[in-house]
Amino acid sequence: MTLLIKAGLVFTGRDEIERGWVLVKHGVILEVGSGDPPQAGEVVDEPNCVALPGLVNAHDHMYQWATRGYAPDGTLFEWLRTLYPIWARLDAGIVRAAARAAMARLLLSGCTLSTDHHYVFPRGQAGIFEALVESARELGLRFHPCRGSMSLGEAKGGLPPDSVVEDEDAILAHTEEMIGRFHDPNAGSMCRVVVAPCSPFSVTPQLMRDSAALARKHGVRLHTHVAETRDEEAFCLEKFKLRPVELMEDLGWAADDVWYAHGIHLNDAEVARLARSQTGIAHCPSSNMRLGAGACRVSDLVRAGARVGLGVDGSASNEDANLAMEAHQALLLARVSGGPAALDARGAWRLATQGGADCLGRDDCGSLEAGKCADVACFRIDDLAHAGIKDALAGLALAPPARAETVVVGGRVVVRGGRLLTADEDEIARELTAVSARLAG
Ligand SMILES: [Zn+2]
Repeated sequence: MTLLIKAGLVFTGRDEIERGWVLVKHGVILEVGSGDPPQAGEVVDEPNCVALPGLVNAHDHMYQWATRGYAPDGTLFEWLRTLYPIWARLDAGIVRAAARAAMARLLLSGCTLSTDHHYVFPRGQAGIFEALVESARELGLRFHPCRGSMSLGEAKGGLPPDSVVEDEDAILAHTEEMIGRFHDPNAGSMCRVVVAPCSPFSVTPQLMRDSAALARKHGVRLHTHVAETRDEEAFCLEKFKLRPVELMEDLGWAADDVWYAHGIHLNDAEVARLARSQTGIAHCPSSNMRLGAGACRVSDLVRAGARVGLGVDGSASNEDANLAMEAHQALLLARVSGGPAALDARGAWRLATQGGADCLGRDDCGSLEAGKCADVACFRIDDLAHAGIKDALAGLALAPPARAETVVVGGRVVVRGGRLLTADEDEIARELTAVSARLAG
C-alpha cells in the first residue's frame, strides 16, 4: 500500500519544490519529486498547502496541561513552588488526560515527533509512564518519553518539597524497567525511552552520574534542564562552586547523546564547548518569555555548529503546545537582540524540524528525503491569514498557522482537514476540564 502526498510547495528542509510530491511505502519515504506523480494506493492532494517535514518537539512536560494558568506572573522558582504541591496529587488518570490534550494539540500544530519529560511520580501512584506511552500510541505520535526524576528535596537543600521526591535506587530501577519494556532502538521507531533527572536543583550529583551510566549501558539518550535562570546559576555557584554547564560537564553530561532544555545563560566559552561536544539545546521561546527567564543565544549556538531544536515546554509555562508558534517565537526572539539577520524563516523551520531530530538522535527524521520516516505536516496558505502572501515559508513563520491541514506520521494520516482523526478533540477537552478541576481541589 503506497501513499502519495501532493502539495503546492514541498519544503524538504533544504529544497523548495513547486507542485511537489512525496511517495510513501511502509511508513518510509520512497521518493520526493515534482511534475507528474506516480500512481499510489491512497492520495492526499493539498494544492493550497506547503508540505514541511513533520515538526519535532524537543522539550515538554505533558502532565502540565492539567495545571495551566497558575502563578501567571511568577519567576521559575516562584512558579515551581506554587505548583509542586499540586503536582504531588498527580495520578495516572490525570496524566493520561493531560497527555492526550498535549499530544492532540501538538499533532494539530504539525508536530509528528515529540519528547515528554515526566519527572513527578508521587508515591504509590502506578501506571504514569505507561499512560504516556499508551496515549502516544493511541493518537499516532512518534514519541520519546523521558523517565524524569527528583531526589533532592528541601530537607537536603533542594527546591522541591520532600513529598514529591523519590528514592534514588527506586528511580534507577524503574527507569531501567521502562527502558526494557518500551525502548525501541530500530530505525523508524515509534518509541524511544530517555533518562532524564529533572535539574541540578532537584536531583543530587550522584543521581546525575548514575543516570548517565545507566543510559550509556542501554544506549539511550540523556536529557535535563540546564542554565534556564539566574536563580539556577546562583544555586549551582553556591552549592557546587560551579556554573550549571561546568557542573554538567563534571558529571559526564556534555556529549552527543545528551540534550539540555533551555541553555539560556551561557557565556562565550560555554557556547563553544557545547558546540564542540555536540550537546543539544532545546530552545523553548514561549516558556522563556512567559517566565521572563531570558533569551537563548540561538544564532550564536547555530553559528558555532551546535545542535539546536525547539520545544513547547510544559504548558503550565506556555498555556499551549503549538510547535509552529514556537518557530514564530524563536524567529522574533532571536531578532530582539540580534537584528533581522539573526534568524530567518527557513532557519526557524530547520530548528523546528532537523534541529529537533538531531537533539533526539533521530537520523531517520527531520527532513523529507528518500529513506526517512514519512512524517509530513501540510499548512494551508489560502486561508485568511496567508492568502496571497509573497513568500509562503516566510509567511508561515511570521504569521504562524492556527492548525495544520494534514499531518502524516509514519505514513499514517492522523490529521485531515484540520481535524484529528485518531481521537475526539471535544472529548479530550471535556476530560481535561474535569481533571484540571479535580487537581485544583
Ligand atoms: Zn521544562
